[in-house]
Amino acid sequence: MTDADELRRRSARERPIVAIDGPAGAGKSTAARMLAARLGFVLVDTGALYRAVALAARERGVDWSDGPALGTLASTLDLSFAVDAVHGGASRIHVDGHDRSADIRTPDISMGASTVSAHPEVRAALLGLQRRLGERGGVVLEGRDIGTVVFPDAEVKVFLTARDELRAERRRDEIARRGGPVPSLEETLREVRERDLQDSTRAVAPLRPAEDAVHLDTSGLGIDDVVEQLAAIVERRAGGRLTSGGT
Ligand code: C5P
Repeated sequence: MTDADELRRRSARERPIVAIDGPAGAGKSTAARMLAARLGFVLVDTGALYRAVALAARERGVDWSDGPALGTLASTLDLSFAVDAVHGGASRIHVDGHDRSADIRTPDISMGASTVSAHPEVRAALLGLQRRLGERGGVVLEGRDIGTVVFPDAEVKVFLTARDELRAERRRDEIARRGGPVPSLEETLREVRERDLQDSTRAVAPLRPAEDAVHLDTSGLGIDDVVEQLAAIVERRAGGRLTSGGT
């Protein structure tokens, strides 16, 4: 995309695109959900799309190493989001008409999502959907490559990080909240690091901060402070567009 194209796309949007990227357990999901609620923006959890592909592949006997077959599967699945008003605006993912939000959150599917997402065919199949969901603006998208690949022209880009041990603890808390068997801290730390390595060393759309992203380390910050800081970043980067065109 040329600079002129980028400017044209940006100026066509009345409200900004907020891209939040970062590794597993950095606090993206909760922060993105609370920020979207605060701004009155739509929330798009892009990791759920890769998780849905991993789950569907497992159920249909498609191998997680078979890029072309996974690409075909990803482009034929009917993937959509619904807002869960009861749980503070969390997004629920529907796969071929069924709510699979709980089924995609197991440690096995976490690793599977990371494995299937390394295939270029899968990334290509999910790119159009992510762009359609976000292109009109007034949206918070969270993932790994939103600021670098999906919306390199996003008005606001944030890269969230936190210490590894803390990220592992958060992952364990999340698993406990969902009622699953809780793995040891060592095991979770290993899984988190393995997933980071896989995500940041893949050839296509690796996990990395966009050059113009604001970095925010959430270690030692409570969730309210994180959301406060994110809101301040959005205000700084796109303050003038926050209310125009809003409902
Ligand atoms: O964010 P979440 O943990 O749900 O993401 C699951 C996996 O999906 C990540 O480990 C990553 O491999 C992949 N992913 C991705 N690009 C995104 C979002 C998620 O590759 N934009």
